[in-house]
Amino acid sequence: MPPAKTLGIDLGTTNSCMAVAEGTLSTVIPNREGGRTTPSVVAFKDNGEVLVGLPAKRQAIVNPAETIYSVKRLMGRKFAEPEIESLRYLLPYGIAPDAANGDARVKVRTSLLSPPEVSALILKKLKADAETFLGGTVEKAIITVPAYFNDSQRQATKDAGAIAGLEVIRIINEPTAASLASGLGGKQNMLIAVYDLGGGTFDVSVLELAKGIFEVKSTSGNTYLGGDDFDMKLLAWMIEEFKTQQGVDLHQDPKAMQRLKEASEAAKIELSAASTTHITLPFLYQDKSLELALSRESFEAMTKDLVDKTEEPCRKAIESAHVTAKDIDAVVLVGGMTRMPRIVQKVREIFGKDPYARVNPDEVVAAGAALQGSIMGGEIAEVLLLDVTPLSLGLRTVGDGFKVLIDKNTTIPIRRGEIFTTTEDNQTFVRIGVFQGEQTKASQNHPLGEFELVGIKPQPAGKPRIEVTFEINADGLLRVSAKDKETGQKQSIVIKPSTGLDRDLVDRLAAEARAGGSPGGGVTSVP
Ligand code: AMP
Repeated sequence: MPPAKTLGIDLGTTNSCMAVAEGTLSTVIPNREGGRTTPSVVAFKDNGEVLVGLPAKRQAIVNPAETIYSVKRLMGRKFAEPEIESLRYLLPYGIAPDAANGDARVKVRTSLLSPPEVSALILKKLKADAETFLGGTVEKAIITVPAYFNDSQRQATKDAGAIAGLEVIRIINEPTAASLASGLGGKQNMLIAVYDLGGGTFDVSVLELAKGIFEVKSTSGNTYLGGDDFDMKLLAWMIEEFKTQQGVDLHQDPKAMQRLKEASEAAKIELSAASTTHITLPFLYQDKSLELALSRESFEAMTKDLVDKTEEPCRKAIESAHVTAKDIDAVVLVGGMTRMPRIVQKVREIFGKDPYARVNPDEVVAAGAALQGSIMGGEIAEVLLLDVTPLSLGLRTVGDGFKVLIDKNTTIPIRRGEIFTTTEDNQTFVRIGVFQGEQTKASQNHPLGEFELVGIKPQPAGKPRIEVTFEINADGLLRVSAKDKETGQKQSIVIKPSTGLDRDLVDRLAAEARAGGSPGGGVTSVP
């Protein structure tokens, strides 16, 4: 039997892709249906069957409320977050808060599933298909995440891997993986920009490649900008047209909405190659049909604001890297949306050069994740990846202040400590709230967790010396600890994430996966 391989997985919002590497050579693994990418879609059927990938996507029309897609957008998020509010209107399936911690959950009939559980079903399928293809077991994986993912979202991704029975040996940023796989390694000292417009997120990064070391100099982006938004523009237009032509509002008809969504994506993809497309949906509502023609020009006008929205993050990333657009030697395009001609043109306008054409935007991230497996397995010695923190990390101080301990775009792994003190006389404990973001007020940033350091020696305000240490490991995951320097007594506390699955539950589901669940089966509802 061949040695167990580390699977490189691009767990995408819309599509996922997997690859393995042999030294510096990576190979995309096709799924059981023969596809090189797998739709990140899970469907729960009336008869209890669970479908994953293309079969799930194909039946979406007849089962809209129980076909879960774009679940990556819910990963590590609270139900109360404004982004979830807007998604609830757009997604045909139900989203509800977890009773215990308020995390966003997916409603499947009477059960509530956590986003990592749904993602785990996709990962289980990928694992099973890879095992069939490779003829051996796959235990280890490297999974990529958008550079903008915060701690909760990274942890949720790791949990998904564990639930699927995979040991996630590293979480790496998608743009880092893409530049690793771009094959641009030959030239010394070059600057690479990665422009990644996928189904749900936009990321742009500037990386420096010098003497075999890839270093991410800066990242920027928008977690809520992607191909789905282009589809939604088309969908809204079709609904309006149907209302004008037939006098029917289709918003309340889930089956019609699903058909419109599919037609939007198909029209968008067609317009990347053709100058006009025809949309024909017979009997969309009772005996009423939809027939429309759309030119590439009109589509580009309709989505101009979305294309323009990618400009500012690019400028920010260039600025944060302390370079100019001219200094960038190559621009790598990632994500299916970069096949849209207007996007390529936009990239040219921003960077003043043609994008690098020799990568497949759908596969380059998975290929990079697989190559990271080679690096970790010691098969490629000369390449080292250095990632950066996408957002600043700090703690809450008096009056909702936010004290940054680790600035955004700091190279990880990193450990930073700082001394804090009390604000009141004889204070014996301090509450430490940990946040991630760029706002000056703690409450306006993303809360990561809170803990108390107790047993501080009673002293006048300002006297105790409390050392708080932030430590980010290579996966981008954070541990925070605190120590009372006055007493010399060491007290170290690991942060409890305010979002996420109960560790016991993840362990139990992971054990179940190891014991052998059928691919696409074995869903456990969250109590
Ligand atoms: P990804 O997340 O990289 O799989 O990107 C998927 C997004 O790319 C989806 O919104 C697709 O509709 C979109 N996409 C795929 N192929 C094309 C194409 N040829 N032209 C425009 N968009 C595309």
